[in-house]
Amino acid sequence: MSDQFDGGNRSPDGIDDTPTVTCSRCDNDWDLAYELDTLQVGNRAVERFALDHKQHTGHFPDDVQPWIVACTRCPDGEEFLTERPARRWAETHARHTGHDVSLTHSDTPTKTIEANR
Ligand SMILES: [Zn+2]
Ligand SMILES: [Zn+2]
Repeated sequence: MSDQFDGGNRSPDGIDDTPTVTCSRCDNDWDLAYELDTLQVGNRAVERFALDHKQHTGHFPDDVQPWIVACTRCPDGEEFLTERPARRWAETHARHTGHDVSLTHSDTPTKTIEANR
């Protein structure tokens, strides 16, 4: 119950919970101070980082389990953070090309979006 302010926290405010993200492909890690302080995305900082990382490096960082869409007929494919855009990509690809597209996520069995004609 004594005052113990020198517990080892870096921050004088005791706020030392800036989340960090690791990417083994880049062999690097980042704290999300930029996302939190500059972009002000709050609790979506990890998501924001992941999307930016994908956009600029072509892959997601560690601990992100993307929705993966892959065409069964051509080399086209993409990875998304959430199901909705992944499904939309699959449906759009199927619609325009007539190709079946598989939709994969770690927690769920692979689904196939069949070309609708
Ligand atoms: Zn990376
Ligand atoms: Zn295709």
